[in-house]
Amino acid sequence: MNFPDLGLASPLVTNLASLGFQEPTPIQAAVIPALIENRDVLACAQTGSGKTAAFVLPLLHHFLMTPRREQTGARKAYALILVPTRELAIQVGEQLRRFSAGPLMAQSAPKLAVLYGGISINPQMLYLRGGADIVVATPGRLLDLISKNALKLDAIQHLILDEADRMLALGFADELAQVLKLLPAQRQNAFFSATYTNSIAALAERMLHDPLKVNI
Ligand code: AMP
Repeated sequence: MNFPDLGLASPLVTNLASLGFQEPTPIQAAVIPALIENRDVLACAQTGSGKTAAFVLPLLHHFLMTPRREQTGARKAYALILVPTRELAIQVGEQLRRFSAGPLMAQSAPKLAVLYGGISINPQMLYLRGGADIVVATPGRLLDLISKNALKLDAIQHLILDEADRMLALGFADELAQVLKLLPAQRQNAFFSATYTNSIAALAERMLHDPLKVNI
């Protein structure tokens, strides 16, 4: 299996080649085609498995393949990646930036927002005035920004939950439930978790529709 075989749009394949990514990792080979087909996914994967690219690349693919005006009418956020910590938000943001860089993506690169707490909210509010297409956020700061009308989630078409087990272990279940209520019912969901606990199974059962289950 090779990157072009996974169904990714050609600018992404070109970017991967120029980044020196030669072949997909097992989690990428399993998950990318399903996410491109808009299926829900439940994946158990550890850090270092290439899990970030496994969800970032299909999001960028969907963004590239969707006509601009349908993506974000008034620049409403199109995709949301929820993460438990600021460090993870920064890492995921970096990978998004890396894969969407380059001349072939230049015209249609999404506007990215990486939002986390522990720093002043004002620059984040200013940044969001122009809207954002793909949002990476920790749940608490995301809800703060929403309560200040800096961001709306009613046009989100793709939701990724990264390190879902850590999200629950850090006590974010209530915040997560609040965020989920703000999302449109029609959307794609993908859960990534290092462990498959009972609480992850229960959450997945409630939220995912006929998911592809991958355990690598
Ligand atoms: P992750 O598991 O998402 O934290 O990724 C671990 C590291 O592997 C990151 O630095 C990625 O840039 C890198 N990586 C992910 N997928 C590939 C791949 N297919 N080929 C080479 N490096 C990769």
